[in-house]
Amino acid sequence: MRVVMKFGGTGIDSCQNLANLTDVISKYKRERGYEIVAVVSAVRGVTDSILELTNAINTHKSISIDDFLKRQSTSHLEIVGGCIHNKELKSQAIQAITGIVNELKEVLGGIFILKEVTPKSLDYLLSFGERLSATMLSFALRDRGEITEYLTGKEAGILTDSNFGAAKPLMDTTKLRVRRRIESLLEQKITPVITGFIASDQNGNVTTLGRGGSDYTATIIAASINADEAWLWTDVDGLMTADPRIVRDAQVLNQVSFSEAMEMALFGAKYMHPRTLEPVVESGIPIRIRNIRDISKVGTMILQNPSDESKRIVKSISAIRKTGLIDVGGTAMAGAPGTAAKIFEALAKKDINIIMISQSPSESSISMVLRKNDVEKAVSILEMSLLGRVIKKVEVNNNVSVIAVVGSGMRGIQGVAARIFGAVAREKINVIMIAQGSSQLNLAFVVSDEDCETAIQALHKEFDLGRHNHELQ
Ligand code: ASP
Ligand code: MG
Repeated sequence: MRVVMKFGGTGIDSCQNLANLTDVISKYKRERGYEIVAVVSAVRGVTDSILELTNAINTHKSISIDDFLKRQSTSHLEIVGGCIHNKELKSQAIQAITGIVNELKEVLGGIFILKEVTPKSLDYLLSFGERLSATMLSFALRDRGEITEYLTGKEAGILTDSNFGAAKPLMDTTKLRVRRRIESLLEQKITPVITGFIASDQNGNVTTLGRGGSDYTATIIAASINADEAWLWTDVDGLMTADPRIVRDAQVLNQVSFSEAMEMALFGAKYMHPRTLEPVVESGIPIRIRNIRDISKVGTMILQNPSDESKRIVKSISAIRKTGLIDVGGTAMAGAPGTAAKIFEALAKKDINIIMISQSPSESSISMVLRKNDVEKAVSILEMSLLGRVIKKVEVNNNVSVIAVVGSGMRGIQGVAARIFGAVAREKINVIMIAQGSSQLNLAFVVSDEDCETAIQALHKEFDLGRHNHELQ
């Protein structure tokens, strides 16, 4: 069995966790004879701290680059120092980590003089997090007697466009390159250890795939080498019927389909990069989400045709908190083709992402939901470019949540919407906006954020999602 295993940043953030992780890899290799390709994220918190540092540079805040570098080098060296026992390997690992930190120091020195971090240089800076973590993992595995090869995403063969910060892989070339590079290692019984999240464009510049991108790296590689499965190891038991912090009896889902998982990822069950499933859907490679802290649990399997749980109408209730709603209106909008295009184009030009849209059939208003951080900017763009001409008013509600009810069993079943809104109405919650895509996999609506948790709890109960999975079989 050939498995691409991706490890998140919480799996390597201490000596003990790194040791546990190498145990897991070794176990599947030795006891089960798996061929494993490891993909790893940066150590928990590292990507965030690089972003904090670059924000400080861009906004001319006073910061100490030396302190930052010291923190990074100490924390990584501490893990390596405690986890690697063979003297020779330990000194090689220390040397490798120090070398990477020194390179980072040089880059930061240059950027600090310019006092500007461009998207291109930001991607280069971000790549250091994964370079450090994958180096650690590669040496820790060697210390256990595995033969490994450390590879950056670029060295593994992942080629992307030059959209820094959210680069997309050029799949045809990537597949060819990755297959050539990785299969030859596997044939020689070598375990490739690959940096998640980072790749390179056609000019050799470092690119990143977007936050949480290591999941995406794993599925890109799985599709390229025709893996049997891709496992995303994390620190939760799997995808759940709801956020367990909101719903006490939330359950882990045994199986979900690719399309359901995609809806869940987009709607805040944020265990995955939103494009994670793209590369594997076509080839039907199943994904498992598993808990590295408890490998006795089987986790959630994401696949083309789930079996047991398909009896459920609704599978999960998720929410995107901290969103804002903008309502643009004006009687001139009615019957004027191109109005929506103008609104969305104005926002798109400034990179504002819209989560949800709805237009009333009277055409005199369009509502949209955005991340809270984008609302202020969006309002000023709309006011500057369109107010008084295309639109007459812009209203904002800055404290809303989007709740999404997901499940392929909803398709073609009557009365689901009635049950959803009935349950919400019984809690006296006002529904502000509604959208259902014609795929009927997902019904999403907007409520005031203070009502969000009550609405989720009510829906979880309405669809009896607290029942154990095995009770359904
Ligand atoms: N280190 C990157 C991030 O924090 C990628 C990942 O964790 O998957 O977004
Ligand atoms: Mg991460």
